[in-house]
Amino acid sequence: MGLVDEDLSVLLIILDGLGDSRSSVLGNKSPLESIEQVNMMKFKRRGATGLIDPISPGVPPGSDTSHLSLFGYDISKEYPGRGPFEAVGDGVPLREGEIAFRANFATTELRGDRAYVSDRRAGRLPTEITANLSSILNVECGQIEGVNFKLWPSLEHRAVLVVSGDALSHQVTDNDPHITGAPLLECLPLEEASDRRGAERLSRLVNTWTRRCIKVLAGTPENIERRKRGFPPGNVVLVRSPGVMVKMAPFQERWGFRAGCVAAGKLYRGVAKMLGMDVVEVPGATGMPDTDIGAKLRASRRLLDDHDFVYMHLKGTDVCSHKGDAIGKAHFLKRFDDSLGELDADFTSSNVLAITGDHSTPCSRAMHSGEPVPLLISGPYVRADGVARFDELSAMGGSIGRVLGRDLMPMLLDASRRTVELGTRPTPRRLNFIPKDLAALKLS
Ligand code: ZN
Ligand code: ZN
Repeated sequence: MGLVDEDLSVLLIILDGLGDSRSSVLGNKSPLESIEQVNMMKFKRRGATGLIDPISPGVPPGSDTSHLSLFGYDISKEYPGRGPFEAVGDGVPLREGEIAFRANFATTELRGDRAYVSDRRAGRLPTEITANLSSILNVECGQIEGVNFKLWPSLEHRAVLVVSGDALSHQVTDNDPHITGAPLLECLPLEEASDRRGAERLSRLVNTWTRRCIKVLAGTPENIERRKRGFPPGNVVLVRSPGVMVKMAPFQERWGFRAGCVAAGKLYRGVAKMLGMDVVEVPGATGMPDTDIGAKLRASRRLLDDHDFVYMHLKGTDVCSHKGDAIGKAHFLKRFDDSLGELDADFTSSNVLAITGDHSTPCSRAMHSGEPVPLLISGPYVRADGVARFDELSAMGGSIGRVLGRDLMPMLLDASRRTVELGTRPTPRRLNFIPKDLAALKLS
């Protein structure tokens, strides 16, 4: 097995919401176009560039669906909903089959027999009030028809709702209208729900739970006090993005890589944990624009000592985009380029480095868009192109061309010299690499 020694390791850096459009505040350039790219160009010399559509052209992904797609998971078949990724990333001990929703304490005003959402975050309710209200609801509304409803408080107004019981399906709608001024919604089964009866049951129970919560929350000392002081009370729980905890196919089984993850954001840690990656803690990593990028790069390089794939995530780009802050995004990208100096130029003579985004979040829209994101793959066996910069438009001329999210892992596997020819079958499972645990023939 002489070739095994030549397998390269991969560092994949995902800058959240990287893709952008040109902005007048940056002299009609995109954030990537506006910055000097000293270290990125250092790796570009051994690199190929292109554009990647995380799901498919024109489809704005969520960060969870785009990451799964980039990691080679078929979201039309393997996506259990967002809730469990958030819950697992938040440290909630979810058991298989339990249903998790993202939840917010919010403020509604009653008009007739409808409740209209006036503040989706209840004035960013302090974390300790969210914790108090959650424990009250867990006692008062914790069980309906033998099904358990448990709120796990998180930061500020946020929480995770875990529903456990038999004969339930997570395929239901949000009670959250997602906009202020709209009424609290009835939770309904999805039209395409495969388990219609389970979805009908869960939606009916969620509606009962929501009504009970409203009654209880109106009379809590915390909310009475907030009203008195002119603060918006947390008088309703908005729930959204339900998903069911499942055992996902491990990343290592699918791609042969022993993977580690350097990410601070809960969702990203949750995705990595659910795929069986080792997630490390990095002091100074905040999941915000102020994060210590150099510390994350150093941690990634250390992880490569005993892993052969490291996924490093940076959220600062997307945070700036959602605020419409093109200058802040450019500043963060400049800091990223400076920090890349942590890796020597010869890093890519024995490793593969890939830099991309999970979707575009143009600052002018302050929302995810369906536009592609630039991709750079640098390594000793990469067919380098002559593209002189790394940005949305330059990447159009790169040698990778335009690919889909699901193409990324095969490309990284190939760039790290691990792929085998299509149709080679040393294993019952169809794989495009030779796994370490081959079934040897016993000679007696
Ligand atoms: Zn994202
Ligand atoms: Zn975003």
